[in-house]
Amino acid sequence: MTQNLASTVPSQVRAVSGHPAGASTEMEVWQGLSAAVVDAIADNWYATEQRYRAGRMEHYFSAEFLMGRALLNNLTNLGLVDEAAKAVDSFGRNLSDVLEQEPDAALGNGGLGRLAACFLDSCATLDLPVAGYGILYRYGLFKQLFSDGFQTEHPDAWMEEGYPFVIRREEAQRIVRYNDLTVRAIPYDMPITGYGTKNVGTLRLWKAESMEEFDYDAFNSQRFTDAIVERERTADISRVLYPNDTTYEGKLLRVRQQYFFCSASLQEIVENYVTHHGEDLRGFSDYNAIQLNDTHPVLAIPELMRILMDEHGLGWDDAWAEVTKTFAYTNHTVLAEALETWEISIFERLFPRVLEIIYEIDRRFRLDLAERGVDEGTIDYMSPVHGGMVHMAWIACYASYSINGVAALHTEIIKRDTLKQWHAIWPERFNNKTNGVTPRRWLRQCNPRLSALLDEVTGSDEWVRDLSILAQYTDAADETVLDRLAQVKHANKVDFAAWVAAREGVEIDPDAVFDVQIKRLHEYKRQLLNALYILDLYFRMKEDPTLEVPKRVFIFGAKAAPGYIRAKAIIKLINAIAELVNNDPVVSQTIKVVFIHNYNVSPAEHIIPAADVSEQISMAGKEASGTSNMKFMMNGALTLGTLDGANVEILDAVGEDNAYIFGATDDELPTLRASYDPVATYQTVPGLKRVLDALTDGTLHDNGSGWFADLRRSLLEPSHEPADVYYVLGDFAAYREAKDRMAADYADQRAWQRKAWINITRSGRFSSDRTISDYAREVWKLTPEPIA
Ligand SMILES: *Cc1c(COP(=O)(O)O)cnc(C)c1O
Repeated sequence: MTQNLASTVPSQVRAVSGHPAGASTEMEVWQGLSAAVVDAIADNWYATEQRYRAGRMEHYFSAEFLMGRALLNNLTNLGLVDEAAKAVDSFGRNLSDVLEQEPDAALGNGGLGRLAACFLDSCATLDLPVAGYGILYRYGLFKQLFSDGFQTEHPDAWMEEGYPFVIRREEAQRIVRYNDLTVRAIPYDMPITGYGTKNVGTLRLWKAESMEEFDYDAFNSQRFTDAIVERERTADISRVLYPNDTTYEGKLLRVRQQYFFCSASLQEIVENYVTHHGEDLRGFSDYNAIQLNDTHPVLAIPELMRILMDEHGLGWDDAWAEVTKTFAYTNHTVLAEALETWEISIFERLFPRVLEIIYEIDRRFRLDLAERGVDEGTIDYMSPVHGGMVHMAWIACYASYSINGVAALHTEIIKRDTLKQWHAIWPERFNNKTNGVTPRRWLRQCNPRLSALLDEVTGSDEWVRDLSILAQYTDAADETVLDRLAQVKHANKVDFAAWVAAREGVEIDPDAVFDVQIKRLHEYKRQLLNALYILDLYFRMKEDPTLEVPKRVFIFGAKAAPGYIRAKAIIKLINAIAELVNNDPVVSQTIKVVFIHNYNVSPAEHIIPAADVSEQISMAGKEASGTSNMKFMMNGALTLGTLDGANVEILDAVGEDNAYIFGATDDELPTLRASYDPVATYQTVPGLKRVLDALTDGTLHDNGSGWFADLRRSLLEPSHEPADVYYVLGDFAAYREAKDRMAADYADQRAWQRKAWINITRSGRFSSDRTISDYAREVWKLTPEPIA
């Protein structure tokens, strides 16, 4: 690094504010320091781009990148944290306060988008020639506030005050054509630094703008309003991230968004191929692989066919040969409500040529399968176009050379169930890539105390680039190390308690067990099970004031999709329970409930280092992988979970003495369900009746919404769906037993710390570096390309 932050930061701050650095606002200091970081990496960023573009690349297509904050992450990766602290200190600023100015880039809903962000971090750290492609949403995921305990949603205009970590590349703009509208796609590039490397990767986010800055003719005529409408229609395309997580929404605007970033990205990738390898596109797949993060970017498949045939003269067979060697598809969910299907009429209206190509894919697919002897009914079910709908997952499965699930159990379920017809014909396409998280953001950066301990125990910071190193130190946990670990966790809990007090106005005791469930609010994730436990515990304490209950804080963070009423009802319920518990003068001495509003990446960075218990309690078979489970494990929280998603592999890594596993398994559930009677469970499991009746007997108030009665009904009364679809009551007794036992075990602090240490040191396989190395070797066929 030739640059020196001590000199560049004050001048960048001055350039931003037009004032001396010492007279600038904290926001201006954030802007200036961020600009100084971009300045420091500019040469390496350019060199990396030049090098990658000349060779084989993987392009990660994702409608979501949940990046969170960038500044501290970049400082951490570049080893510049101390230097930055000194630089801002020289004119009277505190680095932590400056960092808190930064808005989260919340361009994603949850796990799927955060996975994409962790992957980019790993690709940069591993010097892999990978670029991300997505949409520069003007409004990220909504901001969540609570009003009387109800969720309210507010726009998140995250870039409105300027954002130094995206650079507009006007010169690289593309034209995207719809039948009814032509727009410009302007790329905004975000640098992706790696840890301990000079390479800097790129996330390219596209913004939609109208063809002409001002249509003066229109503005000067009676068509003034038409011209405005046209501009707005264009801006709509990249205006807002749809707030649905694992639920499909068939909106015209959404399919426009999907086509928008796929088309712009492919145009660029094809042009880059021509620049470096000439006009014959028949070698395209030698130099390019494209990973489809779920079905949102599947329109890239027919769009690449169109570009290769209509713009570069390939025949169908040559084009199809390239396409089927280019795309790889990641499936993220087994939930039926998430499967994207679009009405044919939408495609007719927006892009008839793409639809024509899809019809031809469909025609050839049917012939192909008939030749393989597949029966008529199966062919129809699997075909890309049927029942008036275009089936995006089926196009992905047919055209991709690789199909993967995101945890071992999930991959088995898609082979056995969700995608079984494809697996029967093309078993060799299927593979598992268990998710991972980056140890830079989720350990090095968010937990400096634990990081310092790991540096000390291992003798270097090598573990940050190779987390599997920690496994050699499982047995290094002598009394001194465990004491240090206890101090680290306690200090993190003290910090977190102060953060909660300031942010939520609730006082919590750092000596209590911090029991945490943070993730999107969804019935399958079963926050309701956790809530019912707390209510039951409250009644048990009221009933028997002498009951020995370990001190605990139950911490939640979750956003519900704005149209998902039952999820919103669960939020209201948890807030109502918090009010009941926290305002009880006796009970609140022992337990507290805190709902952290506006859960997002940066709150997660405050919460996870302070957690003792990681709640991963989805109904078995429903959570594809989960990734917060991995973040918690790395930070020494113990898992309380079902055998679902990657929990299965966490259990395998730590052993059953070091995790708390309960509940029905995926194998057991079909049999259990067949004879399941929720009403009988409600009547016979001690305490359940009292808890469920409290939803409607006046103990808890839903402000007349009727939402609590609906929740109760959803568990007990079959209506349009079976009662208690997610087996909340069925697993209640097992959950209560495991959770009570876990809290009691906390009293033996030494044993608890030993378990925590084992979790930390065995978390290596959940580093996204491991995941990405596997993708690079087995799917993308990439090798590292360090620039220096
Ligand atoms: C990791 C993460 C998620 C995913 O959490 P799960 O518990 O795996 O669903 C969602 N949101 C944010 C902000 C995250 O950091």
